[in-house]
Amino acid sequence: MAAAICLNPSPETRSARLTDSHGRVIHDLRVSITDRCNYKCVYCRTGESVAHAESAIAAGLEAPTHYAELTIEEYLRLIKLFVGLGITKVRLTGGEPLLRRGLVELIQELGSLRTLTGEPLDVALTTNGHLLGRLAAPLKAAGLDRVTVSMDAVDEPTFERITHVPGSFQAVLGGIRAARAAGLTPIKINCVLLRGFNDDQVESFARFARREDVVVRFIEFMPLEEGRLWTPEIVVPLREIVDRIGRVLPLVSLPPLEASETARRYTFADGIGEIGIIAPVSQAFCGACSRVRLTSDGKIRTCLFSQIEHDLYGHMRRGDGDDELREYIFQIVQGKEARHHIGEPGFLKPSRSMIHIGG
Ligand code: SAM
Repeated sequence: MAAAICLNPSPETRSARLTDSHGRVIHDLRVSITDRCNYKCVYCRTGESVAHAESAIAAGLEAPTHYAELTIEEYLRLIKLFVGLGITKVRLTGGEPLLRRGLVELIQELGSLRTLTGEPLDVALTTNGHLLGRLAAPLKAAGLDRVTVSMDAVDEPTFERITHVPGSFQAVLGGIRAARAAGLTPIKINCVLLRGFNDDQVESFARFARREDVVVRFIEFMPLEEGRLWTPEIVVPLREIVDRIGRVLPLVSLPPLEASETARRYTFADGIGEIGIIAPVSQAFCGACSRVRLTSDGKIRTCLFSQIEHDLYGHMRRGDGDDELREYIFQIVQGKEARHHIGEPGFLKPSRSMIHIGG
């Protein structure tokens, strides 16, 4: 559902930083640059789009989009507006962002942007890693510093039972190595744990983090899939992950690097390696949330679980100037939800799933 907000630009808010009505400063923008994906992960695409993806993968790794995507120029204009309102970090995501034509050029342009305090904009990228083998070096050359790769198992059969794509395990391992060779470090690995699918991987992932010199982030599964896989029981909670790893490799808690950090970080007793746990379900961190999202069709979402979307692209298309668009963004962010309601009676999944919102 798209919400309508009527605005008169006000000079006071034009120079203001984004703050919501709960006093949270918003400085982190997640930008989905496509809702297409070449994987069909069981916890994401449990619905019809798997069939779309299947034929698209066979035809060369591009799956059809369900929505019109912004052009690279449109992304740049909108991201610049956000940066002018105090955004300091942009994470490009999707869908699968490496499928998007123009990604390298977009990163190059973003590299020239400065935050309100004159620092370079922090640009991050989350990818399934499948195409990193050929894109890691061009991305680094375009100015990207580091990469987050999603990887939900450290053994081939489990990995491919999740992605549903033969050959994906070797492709992702190759992608991680290419990222390291290109200097896209530190490499972070995102792993969504699902009881009964890959929860037996916890200890192996801890060893993998140390052996491969990557930071593994376990993410609690959220109800954002296309189908109906989510139940409270399928979520592997932070406490369980910490206890299990701690039994084989004692863990030491690390302090947060910043207040809005989503991951609880741990190192090992010998100081070698790092893991993190992102626990939106068992230990929600909404009180420190600093994020808003821009979807690939130009909607603003103030929470992953928002029931409404705000049609920034519609305003741009009808000819609004930068002042009006800034005002629109400012007003929307004011109304950011206090928190999500996962697991509570009456909880409603958002109308779009993770792949269409951008993770
Ligand atoms: N295709 C890219 C990738 O695989 O990293 C970027 C998009 S993906 C939606 C971003 C991240 O969201 C991935 O790490 C993925 O594992 C995670 N994710 C997807 N669905 C999720 C869910 N329902 N709960 C928690 N994390 C999820």
